[in-house]
This record gives sequence, C-alpha cells and structure tokens, in this order.
Amino acid sequence: MSATVGLPQGMLYHRYGLLWRTFFQELGIETVRSGQTTKEIMDRGAALCVDEACLSAKIFLGHVDALVGRCTYILVPRVSSFGHKRMMCTRFEAMPDIVRNVFRDRGQQFLHYDLDVNQHHDEPDAFLALGTALGCTKKAAKKAYAAAKKEERRRYKERVAAEEALYKKEGMKILIAAHSYVIEDPYLGRPVLDILKGLGAIPIRADLTDREAAVKRSAELSPTIKWEMNREILGGLAAHWDQVDGIVLLSAFPCGPDSMVNEIILHQIRDVPILNLTLDAQSGTAGVETRLESFVDIIHFKEGTL
Ligand code: SF4
Repeated sequence: MSATVGLPQGMLYHRYGLLWRTFFQELGIETVRSGQTTKEIMDRGAALCVDEACLSAKIFLGHVDALVGRCTYILVPRVSSFGHKRMMCTRFEAMPDIVRNVFRDRGQQFLHYDLDVNQHHDEPDAFLALGTALGCTKKAAKKAYAAAKKEERRRYKERVAAEEALYKKEGMKILIAAHSYVIEDPYLGRPVLDILKGLGAIPIRADLTDREAAVKRSAELSPTIKWEMNREILGGLAAHWDQVDGIVLLSAFPCGPDSMVNEIILHQIRDVPILNLTLDAQSGTAGVETRLESFVDIIHFKEGTL
C-alpha cells in the first residue's frame, strides 16, 4: 500500500494547505484531511495541551489527534523564519517537538516540513526534503513544487483581488485584523464574519493582502515588530484603515504576539472605532454577538445613521 499523508486543518494549514495538497497530488501521494474544527476537536486538543497554550495550538493538537491511525504520516510543519527580523511565533517552531511528545505512545509516524530561512533552509528546500523523505526523486519533487507554487500564487492573487474589491462596495466596512487560522476557523473567526454580515456590515480581512508589500508597509505602524504574520496584518491595516468604518482585532486566547501588536494598533490608529475581541474555548457566540452588535451600533451612532 502506498503512503498517505494526513494534513491537520489547523494553524499553518490555512496558509499552506493548497500548496501542500497540490504538491502531494502532483507526486501521486494521497492526502487525508482532519476536517473542519468541531467542538469535539477543540475539546480533545485542549485536553492534550498544557493550559497555557493558545487556543489555536490546542485546536491544532485536536486536528492531529483526529488523524492518528488514519494515515501513514501526519504532516507537522516547523516554520521558524522568513529572513532577518522576519520571525514566526515560537509555537510554530516548537510544534513538531510538542506533537512528538504528546503522541509518543500512539505509534504514529510524522512528516516534517521545515522552513527556516535564517538557517539557509528556504521554501524550495523544505519541499525538496518533503518529497525525498517520501521516496520521490529530487527532479520529481522540484517539478511538483513548481506546479504547486504556480497554483498557489494564482489562487492567492484571486483571493486578494476579491478582498480588495470589497472596499469599493457601498455600506459599512469593518476591517478584521486576525491570523488566517483564526479568521478562517469555523469554530473561531467564521461566526464573527457571519454575525457582521447578518448585521448588514461588510467584513474585510486585513491578512488577505500582498504579503511582501504588507511586510514593508507594516513599518508605518511599527518598525520593530518581528513576527511575520503580525507584520502582514499590520501592513494590511496600514494600507486600508482609512477606507473603513471600523476595525475588529480578533485574537485567540492567550496570544502573546497579538497582545503586544493589538496595543500598538490601538495606540497608532485613533480615528476609527476599534473593537478588541479575544476568543477562548468558553466564549460562545452569544457574548461575541452582543459585543459586535454594540460595536456596529456605535459606528451607526458616530456616522449619524442609527
Ligand atoms: S501567534 Fe498567537 S495564536 Fe498564533 S500560534 Fe502564536 S500564540 Fe498562538
């Protein structure tokens, strides 16, 4: 039987999912996904994790657990840096070690994707290592990566264009500053988007942006922040905060990088109403709904449309 690779649908899956799936597909390797986040996945991950871990990390462990025994390997990425002063949160560095330790008695094999530009291991290197670890030739792995990257670029460009088009629409626009794995998770951020739409607002994602340009532009709000994904969000905010009616800062509890970056945003952007919303395992959508309703009312009141 040929190898199958399990893809946990948490954390970096929301950034690299299409790239990984297309890469494995090009190599003729079957993938198995853990499925959308459910309460069961979240509770299972929380039970496997130390209390201090952020909700996103707990959810990720729940997704790994959902795949154990269903595939030959489970892909657990380690992404550390994209270059000088372009770091990832330490949870992304530690995750392969955490997973190995938590699931050490379950007889599951894990596959690593290791991206650390500061250690001269860039994305093409990471994919080459991934392909050869699965027994593919270097030539086949390079070809599969080139095809997957082309598809990822094409799709991401489309998504950014669709998001940019929302700024031209009539209506109350709310910019959401959140990590992709928070805003896209059906248990975390998706309900926030749905509630805002239900209230007649147009939610727009700050993270869906030209990433390289956003990293450069992030210096307008903070020249010192080093976390890559926070810089992308800051860059998205810097480019668009003056085109929206309100901003929602959406974080998973307890996120160290967001707690610092959100303070900077609150300090730097003064002219637009900002709601700071932290999601934890207990916060049902009822509390979130009430806060979003009040926020939308405040914007209406400010704009004289209540
Ligand atoms: S940035 Fe925040 S939410 Fe993301 S992994 Fe780190 S602590 Fe968790």
